[in-house]
Amino acid sequence: MKRKLRVLFAASEAVPFIKTGGLGDVAGSLPKALNETGEAEVRVIIPKYKDIPEKYKAKMHHLCDFNLMLGWRNMYCGIETMKHEGVTYYFVDNEYYFGREGAYGYFDDGERIAFFSKAVCEFIQYVDFKPDVLHCNDWHTALSTVFLREFYHDVEGYDNIKTLFTVHNLKFQGQMSDYVLGDILGLQDNYAAATQLRSDSTSINFMKGALCYSDLLSTVSETYAEEIQTAFYGEHMEDIYRRRKNDLYGIMNGIDQDLYNPETNKSLPANFDTANMEGKAICKAALQEELGLEVNPDVPLITMCGRLTQQKGLDLVQHVLDELMQLPVQFAVLGTGDKEYEDMFRYFQGKYPGKLAAAITFSEDLANRLYAGGDFFLMPSLFEPCGLSQMMAMRYGNLPIVRETGGLRDSVIPYNRYTGEGTGFSFANYNAHEMLFVIKDALGVYYDDKEDFEGLRRQAMSKDFSWNVAAKKYMEVYHRLHPEIEPRVKKTPSRRKAVKK
Ligand code: ADP
Repeated sequence: MKRKLRVLFAASEAVPFIKTGGLGDVAGSLPKALNETGEAEVRVIIPKYKDIPEKYKAKMHHLCDFNLMLGWRNMYCGIETMKHEGVTYYFVDNEYYFGREGAYGYFDDGERIAFFSKAVCEFIQYVDFKPDVLHCNDWHTALSTVFLREFYHDVEGYDNIKTLFTVHNLKFQGQMSDYVLGDILGLQDNYAAATQLRSDSTSINFMKGALCYSDLLSTVSETYAEEIQTAFYGEHMEDIYRRRKNDLYGIMNGIDQDLYNPETNKSLPANFDTANMEGKAICKAALQEELGLEVNPDVPLITMCGRLTQQKGLDLVQHVLDELMQLPVQFAVLGTGDKEYEDMFRYFQGKYPGKLAAAITFSEDLANRLYAGGDFFLMPSLFEPCGLSQMMAMRYGNLPIVRETGGLRDSVIPYNRYTGEGTGFSFANYNAHEMLFVIKDALGVYYDDKEDFEGLRRQAMSKDFSWNVAAKKYMEVYHRLHPEIEPRVKKTPSRRKAVKK
């Protein structure tokens, strides 16, 4: 049978409606890329948060509503819908759970997430879209894979829905007290479910449920797919991953190259491309001015942007920042997160005025200006499932300096001084002075080898970070779930094979 595969893509955030991190970027651009393959019809479901801009809310229309059982609760659940850039979106509406500021961080997040995950399953019977694949992402939608099997397996139309569970960050698993099993999930009498959801005798782990229940698993880079099978990166899930390694895929994310485009981006004071880099110098000067740094085109500007958490390698930065600041460099960081790190950067900003700037805020516009204005982009993560920031930085000719882990290892080609190859710089061990050594190496290229530096910039900017490659790989996974549905377009034989013939 040849037809488009129908995929319901469930996530807790999606650009342009709501975003707190990389997951929002992925959910905002991967479905579009999958639809563009012509092989799938992907629709997206997210909660209808209060913070979704009014201009989008005004375009939504009410599709249906029903009552949803969640443990002993019987709750109203509405489904709103709209089309955006050719993709159909569904929004799960419940004022009590989602009529609050932001996306997460509430005492009852477990209950809110469970509600959303159950709504994802329940709503399928109310719409004229019967998915072949339910594609769930991270712990926020992990329970959908459990609910689907436990509560909906005998509902008409649900029997052939297969599940793919993608982990974007294994650190956040949705660990709840055991009480949740009966009170919220309504699974207290289900021994099989309880065993697969329990991570120890006192807690329920939503993500573990999905890792056991889903038909196939994936994560967001090949290296991370290997890493999570080890104790260091596995966050106590490594045994499951090792057991299911034949079901596990590592598919590198892409970025929306139209959005992150130095030639057209409207947030920038000037645009540029590989053939004309004058605009980049204007971006650098404007960024220095905006952040209160000395406006000087000759001093290399090291930038950072992201969540300020331990994951992002900030302990390394803290350890050598004083040493780094003795060098002829500037440092600019944009981010929010743990108070400890926010305060650390505020302290250093006070200590090195005009040389170090800390913008402790969330601003997509400033993020764009930072990617465009910086010379180097530091991302020394302790672990990094994929990482999007380093790709965005490369798009803007901002050379990443990264630790060789997860997607950083897979996306940044380290500089080779003999051939001039590369798109950035990297180091292997989680060691502050190893990082500093590589930063000094990068600064050396900046100061002493302008030709190589410019070459690296061009190479980084020319790399293809589009979603096309990932979309093809996801299609292969979907087809493995449904071998009876053949691809509509016959694969053209690869050039190599053609030559052999
Ligand atoms: P993670 O998903 O671990 O947070 P990624 O590198 O995958 O990290 O994605 C981070 C995304 O969030 C990027 O698009 C980055 O530009 C954006 N981002 C992070 N912090 C900020 C901030 N303070 N202001 C604006 N954008 C931010």
